[in-house]
Amino acid sequence: MKKRVLVTGGAGFLGSHLCERLLNDGHEVICVDNFFTGSKENVAHLLSNPYFELIRHDVTFPLYLEIDEIFNLACPASPVHYQHDPVQTTKTSVHGAINMLGLAKRVKARIFQASTSEVYGDPEVHPQPESYWGRVNPIGFRSCYDEGKRCAETLFFDYHRQHDLNIKVARIFNTYGPRMHPNDGRVVSNFIVQALRGEPITIYGEGNQTRSFCYVDDLIEGFIRLMNTERGFTGPVNLGNPGEFTMLELAKKVIELTGSKSELTFKPLPEDDPKQRQPDITLAKEKLGWEPTVKLEEGLQKTIDYFAETLINSNV
Ligand code: NAD
Ligand code: UDP
Ligand code: UDP
Repeated sequence: MKKRVLVTGGAGFLGSHLCERLLNDGHEVICVDNFFTGSKENVAHLLSNPYFELIRHDVTFPLYLEIDEIFNLACPASPVHYQHDPVQTTKTSVHGAINMLGLAKRVKARIFQASTSEVYGDPEVHPQPESYWGRVNPIGFRSCYDEGKRCAETLFFDYHRQHDLNIKVARIFNTYGPRMHPNDGRVVSNFIVQALRGEPITIYGEGNQTRSFCYVDDLIEGFIRLMNTERGFTGPVNLGNPGEFTMLELAKKVIELTGSKSELTFKPLPEDDPKQRQPDITLAKEKLGWEPTVKLEEGLQKTIDYFAETLINSNV
């Protein structure tokens, strides 16, 4: 059945892939974005599609539309961006959630929240199941993002309990792929751009901290499956790739795949940087029949190809 789907943050990295996927599945897509970190280029290839609409709007302000489903992705995701204006980051998560939940309530739409593994903070349980409550600093530099997302989850569950909203909450772990921002400081884009330019690869700390990286196409498949679960299933559900790598291992893989002559350089570890992060995806496997299929090398190669092309075209 053809649905009219609202994607907030649709001009960002994940949002643009989601809009593309929804159009391919035969739906009508309304993409709402204030272009803080997203760009028109990310969705330029969709603009000629008559079933795609792009609206410049900040989700901290009310929005009146008639839609069937909402994917709420609006929020800067990388530390450089979300710490640029921390108050706005919290407002985006909290006021944005309230407005989108108010909208979902009025039109009886199903609503999906892009939450994050950051709700687990610097975890003392490893890997992290959804039942783990997290260890988050409420007053640190990352708090605007972590606590904003935690409060958004609270709002989703209260609208569900109080107003019977059909909610779906995904806790997304580090995801990478084409259309990541070249300058947003995230580790995969940093390492690839540095390797392609032959610049030193910046390892923060000793590089023994771990992350698990999910390729964007796998993640989007998880979004769609979660949105289509039966009404009673709310999540939260972890979506990520359990393959765990240290930053040193990642740097070596990127150097190998790019054939770069870049050396490693060591920089101080940022404050509150989690030491370890790996999703427990038992619930996603059971409820969504989902698990990632793209291997790190394969996904890195596609991302490297994208950056190689973008860097040549933009001459940066
Ligand atoms: P992104 O920065 O590329 O996309 C976020 C989009 O939201 C951008 O297009 C930005 O312009 C838009 N936006 C920001 N504030 C807004 C506002 N007030 N009103 C309207 N639009 C606004 O980041 P992404 O990686 O695509 O992340 C998308 C969502 O997924 C975010 O909510 C993020 O927290 C979540 N997430 C991403 C990851 C990841 O690894 N990429 C991990 C966990 C969670
Ligand atoms: N809202 C919106 N679009 C709508 C309906 C509501 O943006 O179609 C906003 C509205 O501005 C309100 C918020 O969502 O501030 C929460 O709505 P809700 O109905 O839950 O609360 P109330 O209107 O009673 O404050
Ligand atoms: N990191 C790094 N070099 C970089 C950028 C990041 O070593 O140039 C490290 C960072 O300290 C963190 C990990 O890589 O331990 C992942 O960082 P990212 O910002 O991508 O994601 P997050 O910390 O939000 O998981």
